[in-house]
Amino acid sequence: MAELKLSESRDLTRIERIGAHSHIRGLGLDSALEPRAVSEGMVGQTAARKAAGVILQMIKDGKIAGRAVLLAGQPGTGKTAIAMGMAKSLGLETPFAMVSGSEIFSLEMSKTEALMQAFRKAIGVRIKEETEIIEGEVVEVQIDRPAVSGAASKTGKLTLKSTEMETVYDLGAKMIEALGKEKVQSGDVIAIDKASGKITKLGRSFSRSRDYDAMGPQVKFVQCPDGELQKRKEVVHCVTLHEIDVINSRTQGFLALFTGDTGEIRAEVRNKLTPRWQNGGKGKADIVPGVLFIDEVHMLDIECFSFLNRALENEMAPILVVATNRGITTIRGTNYKSPHGIPIDLLDRLLIITTQPYTKDEIRKIVDIRCQEEEVETSEEAKALLTHIGVETSLRYAINLITAAALACQRRKGKLVESEDITRAYNLFLDVKRSTQYLIEYQNQYMF
Ligand code: ATP
Repeated sequence: MAELKLSESRDLTRIERIGAHSHIRGLGLDSALEPRAVSEGMVGQTAARKAAGVILQMIKDGKIAGRAVLLAGQPGTGKTAIAMGMAKSLGLETPFAMVSGSEIFSLEMSKTEALMQAFRKAIGVRIKEETEIIEGEVVEVQIDRPAVSGAASKTGKLTLKSTEMETVYDLGAKMIEALGKEKVQSGDVIAIDKASGKITKLGRSFSRSRDYDAMGPQVKFVQCPDGELQKRKEVVHCVTLHEIDVINSRTQGFLALFTGDTGEIRAEVRNKLTPRWQNGGKGKADIVPGVLFIDEVHMLDIECFSFLNRALENEMAPILVVATNRGITTIRGTNYKSPHGIPIDLLDRLLIITTQPYTKDEIRKIVDIRCQEEEVETSEEAKALLTHIGVETSLRYAINLITAAALACQRRKGKLVESEDITRAYNLFLDVKRSTQYLIEYQNQYMF
């Protein structure tokens, strides 16, 4: 079917700080779900990445309902990084919400309310609607034509700036070019045949005053297969259920949408929501289950676990990925111990992935990636020192030193971070081992 589809990519501007995981862009798997050694910001941890890839496939095939994933491993072994990689691999439209077990406990909200909110942050609604092309707007046009006698199928994208009727004129000319230079003259009214993709002249329009002959093939209107004038485009907006909750709630929730001083609605909220309200809520909507990542899951208590058990049953439920670095420990709110502090009935539903400590070589590669990500030019020697520190202390501590060392370098007006900058940062900030040692030595000077 020959199809003209006008679409506008949704506004993807997200506030991205250089977060600890900003270098993670996916799981780094090839098409056979085999992990590449270093890819999409991911290094090593191949068995866990492969397992996460299989889970992604199950998610895509819709076979994960009622289950969840547990990432278990020592601190700093990439559990959060893998969860992030899974969300990124599911596509930009997939919402990813992250909470730590301890965040659920607050005075403002009940535990289950907080958990429910976390779930709703991880469920997206994709709203599709058709709107008029506005004068001067830049639109992207997707052209799909199936193979017709002798000619291969053709797809293409054109980006056009529309200026009132010119949109339709330009669109026609360029589209005809893309479809194979059919003989069309200026002022022609054309239609595209649904089955063959063939362009047929419907007649001529003489209403235009300008002479378009000089400008090559131009058409008066581009008509859709059903004969309707293609002046509309499909716009896709993605919001989370939580954002809709906020907009729908009164006073405090509603005010949360405004920026402090001006009282203006925040740009990102406006961009996402206004068209839908303008459309009277008539846009078609699909639910997009995202990924909810609960870190430090052993911090949840027995009531929260019971809530999770039930929430997993819901067909709209996001993919639940939980992580812990605890072994056998007490289930909060009970006197019982269990693996990872998670009740057996919930454990039974979890697909468990373990992460392993990194080798020196892998730490070096992660250090390299982080220096690049933070745009900190670092000498080879300094990177080797960071790697050594990573092996002796922890990967996270070594990564944290990069920013501090960059500041030390800036202070001495240096261009390249050298070992001396790393050493300065290392002496300024203690790692866990040295901090513990310090406490042991000076514990009698602390309050009990
Ligand atoms: P914790 O148990 O303390 O929560 P974690 O297992 O979740 O730790 P992360 O926070 O994922 O560990 O990892 C620490 C840092 O190392 C992060 O900046 C993370 O992005 C990075 N990192 C970890 N593993 C990898 C990896 N395989 N490839 C690239 N970067 C990684």
